[in-house]
Amino acid sequence: MEELTRDAVLKAIADFDDKGSDEFFRRYNIRRSRSYFIRYNGRDYDMKAVTRIALNLVSGRKIRAPLEQSAAVRRRLERDDIGISVVHHQKTYDKSSTEGRRYWTKQKKAERDRRLARKAMKRNRRRHDGWIRCEACGFEDKERSMFDAHHLSPLAAGERETRVCDLAVLCPTCHRWAHAKAGDRLHPLPIGQVRRGRYRRG
Ligand SMILES: [Zn+2]
Ligand SMILES: [Zn+2]
Repeated sequence: MEELTRDAVLKAIADFDDKGSDEFFRRYNIRRSRSYFIRYNGRDYDMKAVTRIALNLVSGRKIRAPLEQSAAVRRRLERDDIGISVVHHQKTYDKSSTEGRRYWTKQKKAERDRRLARKAMKRNRRRHDGWIRCEACGFEDKERSMFDAHHLSPLAAGERETRVCDLAVLCPTCHRWAHAKAGDRLHPLPIGQVRRGRYRRG
């Protein structure tokens, strides 16, 4: 990185003030940063953008090479001879959002018969001495709410007559696996593929 000077940084800040933020970013075609800002005279300025323009001023040409890591740029700016202070704003994943407000929704749902799911669970339990067992990974529990009844041919595919043998009892992870890894909403992975896939990486 070219040698940065306090004078160049202050000129870049003045340029930023002069053009205004939108024009500044448009003019120099620089991406806005989200976390590091120069704090100068009570205002915050995008650290990387200002540094880039300051470097252009120092070298007298447009520098295209990427800047160093933000933390290194910050150390450089805060060095004694430059003496510009930098603040690190909270990242977006630290910010809060309002949740839990109640609202009404209208949904179109496919008809399903809960009794079939109950029967599938019962049948599974009978076969495993009172425990329910995931047909893919073999996870067992006595609590029915730990399992899902999965339609081998998804309800999304349309109207049909369903029998207990059209359902598979899966633990929630295998169930999600069957749908998420399929790549096709209408064709979930066969249970055998879920069984073989679950223990591999990737
Ligand atoms: Zn499972
Ligand atoms: Zn399913």
